[in-house]
Amino acid sequence: METRLAVWIKDTPQGVEADAILRKCVHCGFCLATCPTYGLLGDELDSPRGRIYLMKQMLEGAPVTERTQLHLDRCLTCRACETTCPSGVEFGHLVDIGREVVSQKVGRPPVERLRRVLLNFALTSRGLFALSLGLGRFARSWLPKSLARKVPRAHPAGERPAPRHARRMLILEGCVQPSIAPSINAATARVLDRLGISLEAAPAAGCCGAVSFHLDRTGDAFGFMKANVDAWWPRLEAGAEAIVITASGCGTMVHEYGHHLRHDPAYAAKAARVSAAARDISEVISAERGGIAALLRSEPATPKVAFHAPCSLQHGLKLPGTVEPILREAGYTLTHVPDAHLCCGSAGTYSILQPELSRRLLHQKVRALESGRPDAIATANIGCLAHLESGTPKPVQHWIEFLDERMK
Ligand code: SF4
Ligand code: SF4
Repeated sequence: METRLAVWIKDTPQGVEADAILRKCVHCGFCLATCPTYGLLGDELDSPRGRIYLMKQMLEGAPVTERTQLHLDRCLTCRACETTCPSGVEFGHLVDIGREVVSQKVGRPPVERLRRVLLNFALTSRGLFALSLGLGRFARSWLPKSLARKVPRAHPAGERPAPRHARRMLILEGCVQPSIAPSINAATARVLDRLGISLEAAPAAGCCGAVSFHLDRTGDAFGFMKANVDAWWPRLEAGAEAIVITASGCGTMVHEYGHHLRHDPAYAAKAARVSAAARDISEVISAERGGIAALLRSEPATPKVAFHAPCSLQHGLKLPGTVEPILREAGYTLTHVPDAHLCCGSAGTYSILQPELSRRLLHQKVRALESGRPDAIATANIGCLAHLESGTPKPVQHWIEFLDERMK
């Protein structure tokens, strides 16, 4: 695609990056078939190609309106279009730039700005989120059904082994995950402990920054990224093998620290090393699979499981098909899930900011997951887990918990 970016953006780092991405697009439209919002709304402007046109026009200096912002806001950043695109268009990076520019040009009404500030604060502050969740769980029986469904169920942690092995890996605890499902990182610690690997947390590490990024709070997102780099750096220098991440949404963000901080002389090199050390738990377990067989229980696994592959796992981290063989080898029967490439509608803060589209995607996803009559649902991202729970009576757990249950 030919481009002629406006002088105010052309030679900036954002302009150079956006230009290179835009030029790769050949308008073929293959991406339309896998875009969840195009599937729901049928409007070209709610498709990847339509959004690319809107961003191109904006960056070439055409007037920007709330309409441009609406179509970019409706994008889930699921990156299914990246997986489909034969030309390698990095839509995720382009839409990050597009959203930042549109929010500078158009702004948001004061109420919407306040909502985003409060959400950013509540979701990234572990203490405040834990308090709100505790109150929600306490009051669940008095809440209207539609609201009560949205309060995540309790997932008690169980035992978490203390570090004792020479092999050490860091773990990203996350911001909302320790409150919603402490069971996930505890199960991860137990599984890795059996494999001779100890997990250690860096107490100063916090939110990965993805929530702030989704909420136009780019400055806060960069603050979180730098704080995490500072917290992990000395431990990587001291020999920690990797940074294990059990939420694929956070994993996608940490994998991009090197990209986001590449122009910061104080952080570029360290951030690139942090990104290179980041591993989704499915990558860690795949590499250790040789040691798992001897640790599995001999009695057969009974539940039939439907696996929901989060967009961040398959399209963000580009790790499709890593979890399923692990669960099968652990003895689980996996059911067929139609349209497995489609988003469940969670997508960071999307379920709060675009509730109607999110609800429609959730119903669509739950129908697909339940079509094989599974006993339980497994997934790989805390946002998807909590969102799916609000739409199905079936138990929903992280897949590492299923593996933990099968190990001696
Ligand atoms: S990121 Fe997802 S929702 Fe956004 S344009 Fe691409 S496929 Fe559509
Ligand atoms: S598939 Fe890729 S090249 Fe084709 S229209 Fe979509 S983004 Fe452009």
